Amino acid sequence: MTCSLHLNDFMNGLVRRNPGETEFHQAVHEVARDVLPFIQTRPVYCENRILERMTEPDRIIIFRVSWEDDHGNIRANRGYRVQFNNSIGPYKGGLRFDKGLNLSILKFLGFEQTFKNSLTGLPLGGGKGGSDFNPKGKSDREIMRFCQSFMTELWRHIGPDTDIPAGDIGVGSREVSYMYGQYKRLSNTFTGTLTGKGIAYGGSMIRTEATGYGCVYMMDHILNHHGNGLEWKTALVSGSGNVAQYTIEKLIDSGVKVLTASDSSGFIYDKDGIDREKLAYIKDLKNNRRGRIAEYAEEFGVEYHEGKKPWIIPGDLAFPCATQNEILLSDAKALVANGCMAVAEGANMPVHQDGVDLFDVAKIYFAPAKAANAGGVAVSGLEMSQNSMRLSWTREEIDEKLKKIMKHIHDMCVEYGMENSRVNYRKGANIGGFIKVADAMVAFGNC
Ligand code: NDP
Repeated sequence: MTCSLHLNDFMNGLVRRNPGETEFHQAVHEVARDVLPFIQTRPVYCENRILERMTEPDRIIIFRVSWEDDHGNIRANRGYRVQFNNSIGPYKGGLRFDKGLNLSILKFLGFEQTFKNSLTGLPLGGGKGGSDFNPKGKSDREIMRFCQSFMTELWRHIGPDTDIPAGDIGVGSREVSYMYGQYKRLSNTFTGTLTGKGIAYGGSMIRTEATGYGCVYMMDHILNHHGNGLEWKTALVSGSGNVAQYTIEKLIDSGVKVLTASDSSGFIYDKDGIDREKLAYIKDLKNNRRGRIAEYAEEFGVEYHEGKKPWIIPGDLAFPCATQNEILLSDAKALVANGCMAVAEGANMPVHQDGVDLFDVAKIYFAPAKAANAGGVAVSGLEMSQNSMRLSWTREEIDEKLKKIMKHIHDMCVEYGMENSRVNYRKGANIGGFIKVADAMVAFGNC
């Protein structure tokens, strides 16, 4: 049997089959360039066409979501669930509500999720979903009606052993709770079918904090592995949502001075560092008042850079925690020129491939999203275990387990990412995430 193992041939085929899906092409390319050379050394993966099969979702569900706004107008949006790969466990991945959402973005996220979930060591497959519904400026009632309508279709495709969605951009505990309420009503069950639920009804301690905390634990492992540490460093963080808030919190607790936070309108630069009190202001601003980060600048008298990103500020560490492709080549160049030593992706694919390549050349440690932000899905996995066992672990117990999982992920990256006595974390995460899924697919035969 012959195998088309050349990156260009492989990518040409993928682009032909998925025209115009640029984010999906980008995510696959980033994996394929590491995994294809590895596959050459393991013919069983090549013979079974594992990478070709892994880049084709198991199934995609697309549906209409009709809902009524506060003025009595009927509105229509599109809902999606991409069930990407369930070889090592039920589909697991968040739901995103964002007006720019499309299938390309969801396929990139679902593909990445498959590798990320595998890296955690937990039995979780990969999926992703959401809607082009724009939650900004909507009332609580409108959000509730939308979530209920969305779940009225989605519920028949998910379940505790089938597919377990969670939150993502635009979907926090409020939205998860509305959706879970509707799921519970329609299915007449109380199961762990969504994660990120409130603590009172099946949620897990630390789930809200887990992605941000995990990202900082990963950075700590990377620095420690290279004889360094977090204390006294300065950090640039982008975003001011869930992942950014808890990345900042854990950095403050680790003795790091955090200089920036942002939203889609601009960023603040706080030379004195964001402290606990200022972080509480950001949490209230973004979570309760749905305000803009510019208000922080007014409140604390610091610089606000409208329409700009934080990467022009000098800092030792960078944590992009907002959205995909927020560090382009020019941003990466600014980080390198200013002496940044390490980057951990809190968001999914925030660094464009040109930036990743530059970090490689500049020998900047780079923790890709599938490793660095896996803490969220890991604690979601723990929430599923608690739901199944009908018990609740304490905050300390979950934090301990999260730390162990992030260490496991770090060590997988080291095991598979060594290159001339240097760890390439991107390569390590790609190959480490691939192997378990690939072995399961080989074992299942041609299905
Ligand atoms: P939130 O909705 O809580 O926050 C998103 C933040 O990013 C907001 O500050 C938002 O600003 C900003 N943002 C969104 N779009 C843009 C843009 N185009 N340019 C600049 N800033 C933007 O989402 P999360 O914090 O949950 O998610 C952030 C990232 O982390 C996403 O990539 C997500 O997939 C990833 N992630 C999240 C996990 C989780 O547990 N929540 C788990 C793993 C990954 P604004 O208010 O102006 O929109």
